[in-house]
Amino acid sequence: MREKLVAGNWKMHGGLAQNEALLEQVIAGMENVRGMGCAVCVPFPYLFQAQSMLHGTAISWGAQNLSQHDKGAFTGEVSASMLLDFGCRYAIVGHSERRAIFGDDDATVALKFEAAQRAGLIPILCVGETLAERESGVTEAVVARQIDAVTGKLGVAALSKAVLAYEPVWAIGTGKTASPDQAQAVHAFIRGKIAGQSKDVAENLVIQYGGSVKGANAAELFAMPDIDGGLIGGAALDAQEFLAICRAAQR
Ligand code: PEP
Repeated sequence: MREKLVAGNWKMHGGLAQNEALLEQVIAGMENVRGMGCAVCVPFPYLFQAQSMLHGTAISWGAQNLSQHDKGAFTGEVSASMLLDFGCRYAIVGHSERRAIFGDDDATVALKFEAAQRAGLIPILCVGETLAERESGVTEAVVARQIDAVTGKLGVAALSKAVLAYEPVWAIGTGKTASPDQAQAVHAFIRGKIAGQSKDVAENLVIQYGGSVKGANAAELFAMPDIDGGLIGGAALDAQEFLAICRAAQR
């Protein structure tokens, strides 16, 4: 039985004092929430703070990116083992902002996914189409290509220790959420596609939805059979919104 996972992606937001207040409220609010997984993916400099505050709670933490390299002369990069030093459980790979702004192509994303798993981190692999791709009817082809880049290199079994996040690019940070039916259709396509290679991997894979999820729309999205929680951007910066989303993911 898959457990829903709600993960906050703080993006490049935060500050020590602000994070402390946010995490204190999330920790307190999560005390009565059961039957779901909760995580926050914070900017690298705040991993120590996240570790210090979240250690011993039910809330996991992780990073929003990592290097595909294990170590060496890669100025400005952060390796998977460095993330492990700070107790990370998750690392987001292939977020659409990284793909669009920082040139993370499918091959690089697959290398980052592999580097995360090699160190024992759980990659959260983001996939999703742009508005132009949706309008030209290639949503499934785009999502399939992004998944194949990883499974073609590492095999479908690699997804048994990973999380997938379907994030239509047109819904990220725009306030335009995919309708539950629109999102479910793509989630079902993804699970079906993976089931074609391994029923077991497909059945157990957590597939999150991401794109303007809020307290007000989370329950209807999470009620869909193939939506296993969410990757949350803007609403993860507001403790009460984030907690409402977590409560909507309870069994
Ligand atoms: C995201 O950054 O992954 C995301 C889904 O952002 P938002 O919730 O703000 O749309």
